[in-house]
Amino acid sequence: MTDLSDWRQRAADLDAAAPLRVMRERFVIDDDLVAYFDGNSLGRLPRSTERVLAEFVREQWGGRLIRGWSDGWVDLPVQVGDELGALIGAAPGQTVVTDSTSVCLAKALHAAAALRPERSEMVMLGTDFPTDRYLAARVADDRGLTLTALNPDTDGSMSPVSLAAALSASTAVVLLTHVDYRTGALLDLPALTAEVHAAGGVVVWDLCHSIGVVPTELDAAGVDFAVGCTYKYLNAGPGAPAFLYAAARHLPVVDQPLPGWWSADDLFAMAETHVPASDARRLLTGTPGVAGLLAVREGVRLAGEGGVEAARAKSIRLTELAIEVLDALGGDVGLAVVTPRDPARRGSHVTVRHPRARCLAQALTARGVVPDFREPDLVRLGLAPLTTSFAELIDGLEIVIQQAAH
Ligand SMILES: *Cc1c(COP(=O)(O)O)cnc(C)c1O
Repeated sequence: MTDLSDWRQRAADLDAAAPLRVMRERFVIDDDLVAYFDGNSLGRLPRSTERVLAEFVREQWGGRLIRGWSDGWVDLPVQVGDELGALIGAAPGQTVVTDSTSVCLAKALHAAAALRPERSEMVMLGTDFPTDRYLAARVADDRGLTLTALNPDTDGSMSPVSLAAALSASTAVVLLTHVDYRTGALLDLPALTAEVHAAGGVVVWDLCHSIGVVPTELDAAGVDFAVGCTYKYLNAGPGAPAFLYAAARHLPVVDQPLPGWWSADDLFAMAETHVPASDARRLLTGTPGVAGLLAVREGVRLAGEGGVEAARAKSIRLTELAIEVLDALGGDVGLAVVTPRDPARRGSHVTVRHPRARCLAQALTARGVVPDFREPDLVRLGLAPLTTSFAELIDGLEIVIQQAAH
């Protein structure tokens, strides 16, 4: 029998001292789970979101009908974008909340390529998330660019040095993902952005697995474009709209591939031809989902209340403790941590390799521990600092280690 009693005591001490302890109470936690390790795929439901959405449906949609648009719905993509921007170091006027991450990414890649019409190459990591790889391939093809997919360094990261080797005067666009969805490796966003700019390229960052848990300063780093999810660590709910950031210096000339009436200079002019808005609205396309936007607003508000710096501090402690336990007890049962050991190089999930990873993930879910299985042999434990407690982590790990032994 695995004995985690020492760690359990430490977890209790850490929970008692954790500055974010009160944040967990802001979320609905009334499931029958031992441990929820999937807050990086679908964050928990904030209590306030339950109220806000019920009120929206009954009072605003039910009571105001079409008048709701002039009551304020029309401004939500930009307003909630500005609120979200505060979490990623983006001054107001550069971020919108709209569409899905995939669609936002397609817009960003096209817009980025349009800024370097004389160049012929796109660069990305071959290990990136499927939607990123598929879209990069398609956009490169559509725009006549050659796509180079790099292999990350052995620890899952990409150093400025190894990126620099792939850049040249032909590089138009570089797509990078801040935290790798499989290994959890965290890239150095300011250094890599500077490297892309030194070669004269334009960088697009995917922040899906870092927004809310890794402090990011997009303006200060001079990032060109960024996209990301709101249903992961921002807890905005399944399919909630994504965000798209375009640096203010590019906005007046951003040429995105899906112009619609919502990106037009005057939304209600119904003009003969599309004249793009000069502000961040030019990143939009069509009518946004208001319920989703209100859920994003709540998720952003909670992330701001907890504070991204505090979230990062707790996230590091959670991942550190997980790695310590897995290193101590996992080796005998076939578990090997693949996430970087250096906290400065990882995000908020810890991934283990196991020869029977798929069965292990199923066995865990059946026992109330919800992880993610990722092909071919990885089990991912997402630790969400606003909602995952240290006690929950230890209870979950105990079952992970027991099940891995079977
Ligand atoms: C989760 C995730 C996505 C998801 O995109 P959707 O359009 O919301 O399905 C995209 N990219 C990365 C890196 C992700 O982690």
